[in-house]
Amino acid sequence: NGFCSVTGIYNSLFSSPPPHSSHPLSLPEFLLQHTPHRPSNPAFVDAFSDKTLTYADLTSLTAATASALLAAGVRRGDVVLLISPNSIYFPALSLGIMAAGAVFSTANHLLTRREIHAQVEDSRPVLILTTGELRAKFDGLNIPRPPVLIDQFLSTLVTPAADDDIALIDCRKIELDDAAVLMYSSGTTGRSKGVICTHRNLVYMAGVLRHVWGSTREDIYLCVVPLFHMFGFSVFVCGAVAAGAAVVVMQRYSLEGVLEAVERRGVTRIPAVPPMVVQLVRMVHVAGDYELKSLREVICSGAPLAKEHVDRFAACYPDITLSQCYGLTESSGPLTLCDGSEGRFNLSIGRLIPSIEAKIVDIRSGKSLPPNQNGELCVRGLPVMLGYLNNPEATSLAIDEEGWLHTGDLCYIDSRGLVYVVDRIKELIKYKAYQVAPAELEDILSTHPGVADVAVISYPDEEAGEIPMACVVRKAGFEIQKDELIAFVDDMVAPYKRIRRVMFVDYIPRSPSGKIIRRLLKDIDFLNQLTE
Ligand code: AMP
Repeated sequence: NGFCSVTGIYNSLFSSPPPHSSHPLSLPEFLLQHTPHRPSNPAFVDAFSDKTLTYADLTSLTAATASALLAAGVRRGDVVLLISPNSIYFPALSLGIMAAGAVFSTANHLLTRREIHAQVEDSRPVLILTTGELRAKFDGLNIPRPPVLIDQFLSTLVTPAADDDIALIDCRKIELDDAAVLMYSSGTTGRSKGVICTHRNLVYMAGVLRHVWGSTREDIYLCVVPLFHMFGFSVFVCGAVAAGAAVVVMQRYSLEGVLEAVERRGVTRIPAVPPMVVQLVRMVHVAGDYELKSLREVICSGAPLAKEHVDRFAACYPDITLSQCYGLTESSGPLTLCDGSEGRFNLSIGRLIPSIEAKIVDIRSGKSLPPNQNGELCVRGLPVMLGYLNNPEATSLAIDEEGWLHTGDLCYIDSRGLVYVVDRIKELIKYKAYQVAPAELEDILSTHPGVADVAVISYPDEEAGEIPMACVVRKAGFEIQKDELIAFVDDMVAPYKRIRRVMFVDYIPRSPSGKIIRRLLKDIDFLNQLTE
């Protein structure tokens, strides 16, 4: 059908067909007023309590959120931070923030107080929406007003009558290139940075997900990946809503919870991350107790999925397609998707989404490479973020002067246009698909009095994919132990960022400019020559 197929390979430039439409609408308008949903159909359903928001509810809650924020003095371009675990209210609140012309920002609710403070200092939200359990994490912050609890906020909303919804979401002042979403990512190097995605980026992404993925009103998605991450946000808030599909929301992941939701709700598709696929395979005997016949597809993204797991999944679940997609926070969601033409169990991450250009460049020479050769994947087009917040230097490192976003991933594209991820060139570590920025952990460890030098790299792990490992040079006279260093970091970071392995080394290999040569640290022969 032409979707995502590579239309031409010219001078090693891979491109996909033009967009379906370039909609001159803000994201909330596009999603709620120009989609094929039926007002009485369920939009978001709580997996445990059965509480349901229909599409009519989603629209009126979005409108009411926008009105309440405007009445509270929120203005176009202001940042509003929403921190909460997955909930059926998350989509309406985020869309309401955007419908008020503000920028919806979010973060992992597992972040520590220190990490949340750093993000708040950087993004300066005018208003924070959070839960009672998380409120204490904001204590001591210099913010214009105390955080507002989501339950209280929802209880004060004046929900408009259904007929007034359209009038109430007045997005006339919003420009397509206005910032819509601000999420944090470390990108190819350094610390976490605010990624600005515009209404144009996300409207395009919503259209792509609706059309390319072939989502329909009959689809029932299971939302178990976090909505605060771009994968979850783009797939559910943009893609599923654009298609008018139903989304069953789980607050917390558990395998039994997933299987029960599939059986009870007739879930058809589950966007997942690799550890969930690994668990589905390992616990196939548990899955056997549930009726899973409604489940057509598990779509895995966020981190590499090993061939072994793909093969074992195919053997355990021959009737469920396992596909992959690939994207970055900086690309507003998936850059590649599987459309079924690649086979039901394969290692590719699919084809490029429509209307983007991609090239594979040699990491040393920077020259474009032909099909089937490994190089860095660079992309250009509608999904590429506006840039990093207040950080032109990092923005120009990520997006070059010709508009190419450098993904930091080593990939190749075969002659059929299927894309494969071979390795990650950037420093980023992915623990269970969560981002861990080595620079952040190095900053913390280097403040320990017993540490002379340090580098944090990824170490392979069957369950988590990768774990952060610290290579530490001890200061003379300090007999610091591994456990002490692990505990030192534990107190300051979210659980998924913990150092899980420490290696004492004689020195950290650095370039003349002082940059850590991580490649060398990952080399086993190199490590073997060192102290341990
Ligand atoms: P994030 O910004 O957290 O979404 O992280 C983006 C990074 O996750 C990419 O640059 C890849 O390194 C990795 N990633 C995402 N999807 C995949 C995938 N399907 N296979 C391998 N790596 C992936």
